[in-house]
Amino acid sequence: MLEPNHEHYMQLALREAQLSADAGEVPVGAVIVRNGAIIAKAHNQTELLKDPTAHAEMIAITQAAAAVGDWRLTETILYVTKEPCPMCAGAIVLARIPLVVFGVADPKRGGAVSVFNILNHPQLNHRPEVIQGVLKGPCLAMLQAFFREKRKKEPFDTANEESTSTQF
Ligand SMILES: [Zn+2]
Repeated sequence: MLEPNHEHYMQLALREAQLSADAGEVPVGAVIVRNGAIIAKAHNQTELLKDPTAHAEMIAITQAAAAVGDWRLTETILYVTKEPCPMCAGAIVLARIPLVVFGVADPKRGGAVSVFNILNHPQLNHRPEVIQGVLKGPCLAMLQAFFREKRKKEPFDTANEESTSTQF
């Protein structure tokens, strides 16, 4: 089997992230591929759905499980523009996804490798392989552009919100 073209699929995840940005959501996009076929693509819809769990990865995992007809997403690759948060990293472990490819790390609240090492934790029964830094530049630029705009619009953001935005 040919080595999957990680940049190609990350480009599709970026296209999803742009949909979030266009809707005023934190721009994160995810794509799940199985044997070369795209079985899920999703973007962050937390604001639209008023649902704190509506992260791109969570929506994509639900789509993929429906497509496969199993909660075990073996033989899949999950592409996401930003390092998964602890919630999404937990879902990735539960779904047994074997390979996670992300664009830019999240040094303040990353759940995969940066702050919490959920994807490579000795106490957990599944440890996906992780590749980071694929199309890192465009993934970071999209987040930075979003938070720059947000700070312009809401210069007196709450301290909590500020800590979210200053990471990019
Ligand atoms: Zn998440």
